[in-house]
Amino acid sequence: MSRITNFSAGPATLPLTVLEQVQEELLDWRGSGMSVMEMSHRDKEFMSIASEAEKDLREVAGIPQNYKVLFMQGGATAQFALIPLNLLRGKAGADYVLTGDWGKKALKEAGKYGKASVAATGEAGKFTSIPDRAGWKLDPDAAYVHITTNETIHGVQFQSTPDVGGVPLVADMSSDILSRPIEVSKFGLIYGGAQKNIGPAGVTIVIVREDLIGQASAMTPNVFDYKQAADNESMLNTPPCFAWYVSGLVFKWIKDNGGLAGVGARNQAKAKRLYDYIDSQDFYRNPVAKADRSVMNVPFTLANAELDADFLKGAKAAGLSGLKGHRAVGGMRASLYNAMTEQGVAQLVDYMKEFARTKG
Ligand SMILES: *Cc1c(COP(=O)(O)O)cnc(C)c1O
Repeated sequence: MSRITNFSAGPATLPLTVLEQVQEELLDWRGSGMSVMEMSHRDKEFMSIASEAEKDLREVAGIPQNYKVLFMQGGATAQFALIPLNLLRGKAGADYVLTGDWGKKALKEAGKYGKASVAATGEAGKFTSIPDRAGWKLDPDAAYVHITTNETIHGVQFQSTPDVGGVPLVADMSSDILSRPIEVSKFGLIYGGAQKNIGPAGVTIVIVREDLIGQASAMTPNVFDYKQAADNESMLNTPPCFAWYVSGLVFKWIKDNGGLAGVGARNQAKAKRLYDYIDSQDFYRNPVAKADRSVMNVPFTLANAELDADFLKGAKAAGLSGLKGHRAVGGMRASLYNAMTEQGVAQLVDYMKEFARTKG
């Protein structure tokens, strides 16, 4: 077996021990005589998998009792519509703070269901920094304020939770959920697809404060109504069973590896190693304001873009994959999710040094 060091932005690398456990349990899950893929979601075996995953997630993330945890489908992209459908609650509109392309997508989708206003945007600076909180134009009557805690494409991340007063704060955490301790009580709703920092694609985690649900717009499809999902323990219809199961194993892996504090410290150390190297020389460059740099996704350019293809080819030969940057920003991007090891980042930095030495 040969496993590559995978810097893909998503779907992304998973902890090896989790994959090994999945492999070991694949044909016969704990004496049930079947794989998790083959079980009825109504049987006690899967019910135990589902409830244990929720219990572990609540423990790991410190989710208060007055929050519901939903295991949904449709990815973060479906949530872009479900959030206004469920949370507008008769109000005219919501505020969006744009720090990259994902926030723009969320804004555009929300505009189909209500007034979606731009409270602040970093677009003039090509999304290389978070707009200063003092300049945000927030409407105190907004149904919610939406932020993207980590913009996966631009590599810009909120380093603290902004204060938006009494209006519920809604956060797309798709690419940094469970990467560091979360102050859940500061949010009205947190959401994220699993495929970046949690598990396989197919399940979307929604953590929502109880008092915000139950007032969905009448046109909301039943399976996408948070109240219905909560009342039915995310099993109004067949849930994404296998993705839910693997996510549950990852929650246990986090528990066994120092919880979010431990994971967060390792993520800081990994990102520091890469940024320190980038800042120490002139061949590679990261354009993001230092205070707003993402710990999860590190975009960087080479001094000469004509060397990009060569860089990627050499990387592949050195056992490093998934480094091609998003087409919107070009260059390279290294995603350093929880399952990326410190050794993997060291390997990348060594390769970058050698490439710059020989080709730069
Ligand atoms: C990947 C990503 C999305 C889209 O996720 P899907 O699950 O593919 O819909 C949305 N927001 C952010 C911040 C992302 O990184």
